[in-house]
Amino acid sequence: MRKKIVAGNWKMNKNLAGTKTLLSELKTELGQSSNAEIIVAPTFTNLYGAVEALKSSDVTVAAQNMHQATNGAYTGEISADMLKDIGVETVILGHSERRAYFGETDALLVEKVNTALENNMTIIFCFGEELEDRKSDHHFSVVENQLKNGLFHIAETNWKNVVLAYEPVWAIGTGETASPEQAQEMHAFIRSAIAKAYNQDIADAVSILYGGSVKPANAEEIFAKPDVDGGLIGGASLDAKSFAAIANAI
Ligand code: PGA
Repeated sequence: MRKKIVAGNWKMNKNLAGTKTLLSELKTELGQSSNAEIIVAPTFTNLYGAVEALKSSDVTVAAQNMHQATNGAYTGEISADMLKDIGVETVILGHSERRAYFGETDALLVEKVNTALENNMTIIFCFGEELEDRKSDHHFSVVENQLKNGLFHIAETNWKNVVLAYEPVWAIGTGETASPEQAQEMHAFIRSAIAKAYNQDIADAVSILYGGSVKPANAEEIFAKPDVDGGLIGGASLDAKSFAAIANAI
């Protein structure tokens, strides 16, 4: 059985007070009813507070990014070591906003992936095609290349620390979602690409999340697809009731 996961990517939202409020609302709303592992990713300044606030709960905390180097002269950056030190064991890497606005390339992601794995962190590795790729029918090759160039160098034993998040760029924050069929088709393709590059056992074991305008109204249908193992939720994760409804849709 693959792990079901619902992760909230809060992006650059919520100050300290807002973080505390959302986490306490979440604890109430989530109750005991989700079958999924729940992860929240607040911004760096609120990670420690979130870890403290969630100590008595099953919800875990992820960072939205990290630097590839170990500690040193990298002004403004945060290392894996610092994240681990405050109890953050998971990191989102390769989000399309990082790729688009902060110039993160596949080559840089290789370094970040390696550093995260060397520090025994779990990675939520994000990738997905742009609208033009889909329109020109290149979405499968774009996705396969992102995986090959950014992730498929890792050793077989490291796959247990990897979660994938397929996020078509045209569906992120746009209100436009991939149809459940489009998500399933791509997730099955991703699993077959992993089986080809590694083996079927690894492909069958890895959780593949869908991300891009997941809402309470569409979550159940998307999560019902056999190769969709949960979601990476942006906008709707900022509202406790919506996020809990999505988590409970698993
Ligand atoms: P969205 O964002 O749910 O707001 O579309 C998803 C993401 O960027 O992870």
